[in-house]
Amino acid sequence: MIAEVIVDISTAEVDRVFDYRLPDTLKVGLGQRVLAPFGRMTVEGFIIALKETSEIPDKLKDIIEPLDDYAVVSTELLGLLDFMTAQYHLRKVDVLRLFIPAEMRRGRIKELNKRFAALKAEYRGQDPSGFIKKSAVAQNELFAYLNQVQSAGVAELNRNFSAAALKNLEARGIVELFETAVARTPYRDETGTREKEVVLTEAQSRVAKAVAAATDGVFLLHGVTGSGKTEVYMHCISEVLRQGKTAVMLVPEISLTPQVLRVFRGRFGQKVALLHSGLSAGERFDEWRRLLSGEAVVAVGARSAVFAPVQNLGLLIIDEEHDHSYISESNPRYHTIEVAKRRARLSGCPLLLGSATPSIESYYAAKQREYTLLELPERINRRPLPDITIVNMCKEVYEGNDGIFSRAMRAALTDCMGKGDQAIVFINRRGYASFMLCPECGYVAKCADCDVSLVYHKEDHTLKCHYCGNRYPVLTACPSCRSERIRRGFVGTEQVAEALKAMFPGKKVLRMDNDTTRTKDAHATILKAFSSGEAAILVGTQMIAKGHDFPDVTLVGIVDADLSLHFADFRSFERTFQLITQVSGRAGRDKKPGSVVLQTYSPNHYVYRFAVTGDYRGFFDKECNLREVTKYPPFSRIIRVLVTSSDEALAGRVLKGIFEELTQGLANERRALAYFAAMKSPVKRIKGAHRVQILLRLTRDFDKLTALVYNTVDRHAVKNAACFVEINPNSLY
Ligand code: ADP
Ligand code: ZN
Ligand code: ZN
Repeated sequence: MIAEVIVDISTAEVDRVFDYRLPDTLKVGLGQRVLAPFGRMTVEGFIIALKETSEIPDKLKDIIEPLDDYAVVSTELLGLLDFMTAQYHLRKVDVLRLFIPAEMRRGRIKELNKRFAALKAEYRGQDPSGFIKKSAVAQNELFAYLNQVQSAGVAELNRNFSAAALKNLEARGIVELFETAVARTPYRDETGTREKEVVLTEAQSRVAKAVAAATDGVFLLHGVTGSGKTEVYMHCISEVLRQGKTAVMLVPEISLTPQVLRVFRGRFGQKVALLHSGLSAGERFDEWRRLLSGEAVVAVGARSAVFAPVQNLGLLIIDEEHDHSYISESNPRYHTIEVAKRRARLSGCPLLLGSATPSIESYYAAKQREYTLLELPERINRRPLPDITIVNMCKEVYEGNDGIFSRAMRAALTDCMGKGDQAIVFINRRGYASFMLCPECGYVAKCADCDVSLVYHKEDHTLKCHYCGNRYPVLTACPSCRSERIRRGFVGTEQVAEALKAMFPGKKVLRMDNDTTRTKDAHATILKAFSSGEAAILVGTQMIAKGHDFPDVTLVGIVDADLSLHFADFRSFERTFQLITQVSGRAGRDKKPGSVVLQTYSPNHYVYRFAVTGDYRGFFDKECNLREVTKYPPFSRIIRVLVTSSDEALAGRVLKGIFEELTQGLANERRALAYFAAMKSPVKRIKGAHRVQILLRLTRDFDKLTALVYNTVDRHAVKNAACFVEINPNSLY
């Protein structure tokens, strides 16, 4: 037998299949990892196909041995391998690496084996007086215990009994020791609360039935916040499990909270496995193993869980499908929804996308009947969506209030606190007071290595670069004009939290952003403190916008809604609309009605007009129209070729070479091009690397022209400069 092997080395030169002879003595099959000779080295590799003969039979070497005694890649995932390498121009090995826990490579992790002790069969249930002296108290105690529990971990026994006694009994052949694999379970303490059995509403059942009846296709569930989407997902999963199949549900990393897990554990117990980056390497490996072995049949996780090693997949769900974390922005670059569509097709199961604010692309696909649209237009129990009040901050400033909070916001907060309710205050920027700027000459403090403004952090009184992490001392005078009036510009989470503490001295204020959630459990601890009612106000960035269900929150304050509006990006209106809808959706989810106060300097912008009435469809129509006229996705495909190098001239030369060749290659494709130009990137430098780019917008022949771009870029690969091709990226910075 001949095995086709991909070796675990990521370079362009070895990105192909190598044939090896499979000795009959080895028990190795498709999808297994093996050790193989490679030149003068020994390398790890993946068997991706088996065949009878090879084209180069004389030169073949033998596979040395398998690395595991099971296949790590199923045939279904091998199907995805072909799709992803073709679609995203990826190296095979980079895709294969996505399929297994990173730490498995080079043997950095294995199953955790624990040593156990048990009585030998012939001694079980015996009276020990015949073979243990009465005076050997410790031995008698240990014997009695093991007789009762059958077996116990050696470490545990040594803690609770005499280690010498265990040694003695083992030496005399009364006790035997053995090793067994045990699973490291993440959040072991979250056993899950068995909640009230929920009966689906009529609208929910309609959705669940449509999905249950399908054996393929893509469904887009547009359900307002609090309409019971999660409940529908769980119902659909139960249905699939009943048929003996498995399910995968993806959620944005940020909303993978212990709260979500608790709900799933409560419903599905140990049948759920969790996959995300917050787990320890050992936990991640064990959860992955539980899915591979079929012990767990529901995978819940972030983006990469789309590669969960389950067999016999019956349903794939992507919650908050509009979330930007589903687009991978570093190698390997891929679009999770596209990959999920392909996986569902390979498994013969439906794909369910859900959101309160679907992406323009997805909703457009539903309108074109590529997807089946399902709707939950009302909240559970007809609870009203919160009232949104827009405050014109220009007017506020004009009338003499230049504080963080408008008068309306203060009044609403005071009212909410007076009633003993909870409030969420949202600000889309971390740090205390963002930029340092000079009011005399307009100087803004920037990072020396990156072309971005520095952000002031009060906790350690430094300026930080959010791109590279560099720190700088705070400026006391403007480096450009020497003015000492240099000051901090806008408002951040820290400053908002402080202002609230000053306003409500008797109330506890919590803050949640990247700075307060560095440690593994910080996220969970803050959410727990807030949901227990210990704190009255939660201040945070978009981290607090998603998924949370706090019944006592009746007020949501949006301090500065415009922050994402003014990014020069074609998705900035969409993002702002999504963000406002998501944050507002945290208010009034239970019996008490909710309200939202939104502060803006652009009160007449259509994003706000549609957000206030919760009119997704109105927003979609307007936005879609704009995209059609200006030729942006879904009416075009954006390709960005990004070249970066610490050598500015080199980056420029490489870009020029690519641009000239593309210009020739595309000479006869003028009509497929809505835009084609080379330029500096909006952020000209990150971590010392200069950034230049080519932007293309294609209106047709997507695959053919994308392949042309990929191949052109490949031909210009040089040392000391990196080239990336991005398709419809999240941002164009
Ligand atoms: P979404 O995911 O759409 O924001 P959730 O699924 O979190 O909404 O549901 C919102 C709230 O309504 C939750 O507290 C949930 O337990 C409750 N809920 C959902 N479906 C039902 C139902 N059929 N009957 C009663 N309560 C429900
Ligand atoms: Zn920097
Ligand atoms: Zn100045």
